[in-house]
Amino acid sequence: MSRIAFVGLGNMGAGMAANLAKHGHDVRVFDLSNAAMERAREAGCKPAASVRDAMSAGEAALTMLPADEHVFGVYQDLFASAPPGALLIDCSTISVDTARAVAASAAKAGFDMVDAPVSGGVAAAQGASLTFMVGGSEGAFARAAPVLECMGKAVIHAGGPGAGQAAKICNNMLLGISMIGVCEAFVLAEKLGLDAQKFYEISSKSSGQCWSLSSYCPAPGPVPTAPSNSGYAPGFATAMMLKDLKLAQRAALASGAATPLGAAAEALYALFAANGGAGRDFSGIIEFLAGKARS
Ligand code: NAD
Repeated sequence: MSRIAFVGLGNMGAGMAANLAKHGHDVRVFDLSNAAMERAREAGCKPAASVRDAMSAGEAALTMLPADEHVFGVYQDLFASAPPGALLIDCSTISVDTARAVAASAAKAGFDMVDAPVSGGVAAAQGASLTFMVGGSEGAFARAAPVLECMGKAVIHAGGPGAGQAAKICNNMLLGISMIGVCEAFVLAEKLGLDAQKFYEISSKSSGQCWSLSSYCPAPGPVPTAPSNSGYAPGFATAMMLKDLKLAQRAALASGAATPLGAAAEALYALFAANGGAGRDFSGIIEFLAGKARS
């Protein structure tokens, strides 16, 4: 059993902290929300009074925070309170630049640190079936892997510091682009008088097949578990997809990569979000593209 600080008990962090506690770890939690702290207590974690209180005497810290600025702030407190040699794991989705800057500060202060963003939503966080994409040294990865395995089905070492975030934004840029492509195909199929189920049967066995089509079909019907069958309740909210597409474009600009389809996907998701789609599942953009958007 290890003593682990966990900061950020939102939609994702709540289930992740609970799974660490289920594996017998002594999990000291902190969140700005009292309700989140109470839920974590009921799940077997120990509420702390602050980030510093959660970290004191801890062997490791895990963070699951909304965005870059939250990570910068919380890590100032962790650097100030972590015992020498502590392991720091940030699972938030943030920019590659921020991940590398925080990792450099951690290394300077003598801590092992990895960026370990996740693929998989709230259900995967609760069910311990997340995929972790991990950036950091071989030594830091070897220490982090057993902790991450308590919360996931796959833990993959992507490379050095920031490589986990790089993998995450490249994957989600691909997902955003492929979802729009699948939506456009269903919109055109409908205009051409083609039944959505028939088009699904054909395309899911043809060269157009991809995850957005066969596991998360944006047209209601073919994939019963997809958000398209429950009014596009998230799932993976459009606001989250837009955040990840913005991170990808920021990285593309900084690195000089040409990502014109990524830029188009960001623009389309920004339009959908501004027209009432921000809180809806990202596959709901099919209604916007079909001119059926609800506000
Ligand atoms: P969330 O907003 O539900 O939770 C974030 C939590 O952090 C909140 O409870 C908030 O109170 C807490 N917090 C913020 N600042 C804090 C501080 N200074 N100290 C302590 N607590 C603080 O967000 P989420 O959906 O859990 O997502 C977390 C991260 O995971 C994000 O970076 C997101 O992009 C990523 N992610 C989310 C999903 C998803 O499906 N929700 C999937 C993959 C990755």
